[in-house]
Amino acid sequence: MTLQAKTGTLTNDERERLLLAPFAMRSCDSRGRRHAEAEHPYRGPFQRDRDRLLHCSAFRRLSGKMQVFTDERGDYHRTRLTHTHEVASIARTISRALRLNEDLVEALALFHDIGHPPFGHAGEDALDECLRDHGGFSHNQYGLTIAEELESRYHELPGLNLTFEVLDGQTVRANKQALGLEPLLEVQLVDAADSVTYDAHDVDDAVKLDLVTLDEFAETPLVRESLRQVRESGGSFSVDRLRKAVVYNLIDRQVTDVLEHSAMELSQRQFADAHEARESSFRISVSPALTEQKQELEAFLYERVYRHPELVRMRGEAQRRLSRLFAEFAERPDRLPDRYRQRAEEVGLHRSIGDYLAGMTDRYCDQLYMQLVTSP
Ligand code: MG
Repeated sequence: MTLQAKTGTLTNDERERLLLAPFAMRSCDSRGRRHAEAEHPYRGPFQRDRDRLLHCSAFRRLSGKMQVFTDERGDYHRTRLTHTHEVASIARTISRALRLNEDLVEALALFHDIGHPPFGHAGEDALDECLRDHGGFSHNQYGLTIAEELESRYHELPGLNLTFEVLDGQTVRANKQALGLEPLLEVQLVDAADSVTYDAHDVDDAVKLDLVTLDEFAETPLVRESLRQVRESGGSFSVDRLRKAVVYNLIDRQVTDVLEHSAMELSQRQFADAHEARESSFRISVSPALTEQKQELEAFLYERVYRHPELVRMRGEAQRRLSRLFAEFAERPDRLPDRYRQRAEEVGLHRSIGDYLAGMTDRYCDQLYMQLVTSP
């Protein structure tokens, strides 16, 4: 007798049949895993993927990896981990409202930034340069390496043995053409949620850290409209409360826009299943009007925040340290941990050094630099 029969609860497939839209990806249609596994008594395959990602060490290390700002700047701003949780939360909200597969969406969201090396995109550029003659480095590709090779869930298998749907979601992040067809709606949704999330929290962090004022951000139509709506809602706001209210408004307006835009199209198109939806020209996104406003905000963020002299200096220093560490290990492979010395025999020395460095938190990378380079 199954657990559900004994307890009168629903199986995962029964829940999905009741709750999901026809165009959602269903667990029962999953292509499964590279290494077949027996079904779990009460968790569906995408719930299991979510749990595997949540419990893996690369996921926990996201807490020590920067999003935009390093911990030199205090502890208010987002890390790669808190960014990931915000993406997952927003993605689940949208997913539930559109009746897509929330478990799959959550797994994809927890996965989406797992391959970031220390020091964000600066670290990525440094490693890409170090590996220029050995295939380069991309955080999206490295996310797959983590899930398929570096993490070990089971003694007998390398990797987390995730479902093909979750792996495919990350594969298209690394290479848009890799699958030969468009990604599932759940994958598109996580991409949209990622953009909603960073546009809102980068405004929050930049204002809180005194890089840009809210009034300066009001040069962009997206923030200007949020400020207007918040001020019109009445009440007096301290600087802090105004910033928070504007950020909530930015999230809310973007999520509502994604929902309204996507729900209307989905109801008109009446896709019979997930495959039909991905073969169509429909994409989950914000409306064209909001897309334009987001682009203006992103251009502003790029100029005024990401290119801020202090951040540029910090990134330059981080890149220099990563490159120096890379050269150090290339010259002295005996200094690599056993695991990466062994891995060098399979994937080559340079790739193995890259994999080792990319897995580090910002702080660990700094400590190792001090230890090996500054005082060898
Ligand atoms: Mg992200």
